[in-house]
Amino acid sequence: MTSHGGGVPTVVARFGDVLLRNQASIRRLQWAMVAIYASLLTVPLLLPLPTHADYLWNNAVRFAQFVFWGVWWPFVILATALVGRFWCGILCPEGALSELASRHGAGRAIPGWMKWSGWPVVSFISTTVYGQLTSIYQYPKPAALLLGGSTFVAIVIGARYGKAKRVWCRFLCPVNGVFGIVSKIAPLHFRTDADGWRTGHQQLGRSNAVNCAPLIPIKTMQGASACHMCGRCSGYRGAIRLCWRNPASDIVRGSGRLATMWETVLIVPVLLGLVPAALHWSDSGLFQVIRLWLVERCLDLQLAWPLSLRLPWWILTDYPLKNDVMTSVDAAALLMLLSASVAAATALFGIPLAACASILRMKRGLPHHLAQALIPLAAAGLFGGLLSLTISQLRSDGIVIPCTDLFRGGLVLAAAVWSVVLAFRIAAFYDPRRAARLWATAVMAVPIALFSAAWIAAFLA
Ligand code: SF4
Repeated sequence: MTSHGGGVPTVVARFGDVLLRNQASIRRLQWAMVAIYASLLTVPLLLPLPTHADYLWNNAVRFAQFVFWGVWWPFVILATALVGRFWCGILCPEGALSELASRHGAGRAIPGWMKWSGWPVVSFISTTVYGQLTSIYQYPKPAALLLGGSTFVAIVIGARYGKAKRVWCRFLCPVNGVFGIVSKIAPLHFRTDADGWRTGHQQLGRSNAVNCAPLIPIKTMQGASACHMCGRCSGYRGAIRLCWRNPASDIVRGSGRLATMWETVLIVPVLLGLVPAALHWSDSGLFQVIRLWLVERCLDLQLAWPLSLRLPWWILTDYPLKNDVMTSVDAAALLMLLSASVAAATALFGIPLAACASILRMKRGLPHHLAQALIPLAAAGLFGGLLSLTISQLRSDGIVIPCTDLFRGGLVLAAAVWSVVLAFRIAAFYDPRRAARLWATAVMAVPIALFSAAWIAAFLA
């Protein structure tokens, strides 16, 4: 699909070279993104909260809310699945600021604790739960605190560690793990050709050094999970090119084979458990059941304070003028619902994964590799769930886009079928017996079908 060395570069390979040659323009674009990001975070803080008479086209608070949660969050996920992590390498203001700070910073060695593989999971869970407790999608103050705080820490980390690197993005960014997982199904990637590397010569007109800001060993690069698609290594030694790939190839034959326990945790309990509950808890009947049960327990124990205790907005939602206050009982009910959803997803997918490992004669790494088959389902569920924010915000302003729920349902259904096909193809890696592969695939199809049916029902409700 692409050429290496002396071949003629394809159109996408040439696009990689365009990125390489236009790094100065990309930096200017990043400064524009920083300015837009800073305005969207700070201007709403200076304005009163919107009323029912305010719309996204005449109110800066509503506009910023729509840009962050109705456009940025869902469509960056979609773009990552379709073309890889170009957002990270070209547009992300936080990554750009962290790299800038690192260029002029202390340049210290990266400490060992920062390289712990669990950070992407821990930071994503923490920010997701905190965002729900403080109603980040509805109010500018928690959005400024969480996003602005994250950017501040990114700059501090950049100023201390690495030299012109994105240490924050590589190890600590709350969405790095999710972007890395979702980008595995992207049909575009920068590929290193090992033979080309050995025999290749440097392209005329490019410098010898490649500053790969997210610290990827480009010579042995596997897959596109960590790559920010910045283009700086395009054409290096005539061996690295932007090229098309089969969207299943990384999961089935590439980095999927090296999948870790933390990736499985991110896919199963987090993306397939925590995220759906976090996006739909306010409409959940189970949330009301849990809340009522907690209220009754408090009354039984003659404990009145948990029913009325209010905490500051930066701990729990507290906007009495908007009639929107989350009491400690509401917060406890939310945390219990999220925990129940995590436990349900773990059981729903974990038991079939263990059963498949047994059917396919348990091999080392098999359950984690098989869990990668769920990436299309997790990505479609995440995008479809986040699209609820877009749809509900537009609907509240009187804009109804037809067939969005059917589109989301169809997307989840297509992703579910793809996940089943991937499970079958991964099983072929571990067991040549066709009957065992079919049996294992059928076992995996059950939770996939149940999960997608639940998501589709939620979309169409
Ligand atoms: S491997 Fe590194 S330098 Fe190359 S495109 Fe990806 S992030 Fe940029």
